[in-house]
Amino acid sequence: MKQIDFVAHPQGAHMVGDGFRVHNFIPQVVGMDRYEMDPFILLDYNPKMAVAPGPPRGVGTHPHRGFSTVTFAYHGRVAHRDSKGHQGVINEGDVQWMKAARGVLHEEMYEDEFANKGGDFQMVQLWVNLPAKHKMDAPTYQAITRESMSKYQLEANSGVVEVVSGRYKNCTGPAFSDTDVHLMNVRLHKGGSADFSFPSSHTTALIVLSGSVTVNGTEVPQDNLLKFKREGEDFTITATDEDTIVLVMSGEPIREPIVGYGPFVMNTKQEILQAFADFNNGTFGEM
Ligand code: MN
Repeated sequence: MKQIDFVAHPQGAHMVGDGFRVHNFIPQVVGMDRYEMDPFILLDYNPKMAVAPGPPRGVGTHPHRGFSTVTFAYHGRVAHRDSKGHQGVINEGDVQWMKAARGVLHEEMYEDEFANKGGDFQMVQLWVNLPAKHKMDAPTYQAITRESMSKYQLEANSGVVEVVSGRYKNCTGPAFSDTDVHLMNVRLHKGGSADFSFPSSHTTALIVLSGSVTVNGTEVPQDNLLKFKREGEDFTITATDEDTIVLVMSGEPIREPIVGYGPFVMNTKQEILQAFADFNNGTFGEM
């Protein structure tokens, strides 16, 4: 059985741009040891909030280099565009996987119609590190709709596991990842359960987006994050509420030096200085 390290509730919120009111779980809550959650660098969580009608808010143009941003929309819609000409809308239930790699500029804003009407808004943004040999790859963009996810129907009408990347039983998610990263939304009915198995060497965690669950018998309330130790393989999630949604993440650590500064995560300080130089000389493109 996989051993639980801790269950953490969200700490103080801060704004990202003027549209995202997030609680940082990685690295703040899990501790500042950047290797503890390898390959996951950052997890910002915007719990469900009511957005009043108004002009689109969000985060204006900013760069990234050295990793992928993976954005999960649970309520509301985010419009995205980047300096490589990619654009799209992340609708409810969808995921966007942007491999920034050698660098993009992008903006993440409320989608126009959502902003005009207002409504519930709930998002997760996860930064997945890239190994050194892929940090300077060309950027790519994967729009993963809920429809395109691989779906595993659980027994006894327990619910469904929607696989974004990696595998759950015989289902493989559509997202391409350069390393072994498993991301999935687990949607359970009250009393329903699902069993999981990931190697003990993986970094494995989950966050409860809706309802509350038990994990190997330990209660995890809504908006809480559970982190496992790197001990044991198996765990079972059981829903104690109706309409439960849990984001499960498990990844093989990259085990390389991590040097991050703001929107850049590289292997050495020199590479961070180079990222600033490249950003300032226009290498990331224009928007
Ligand atoms: Mn960004």
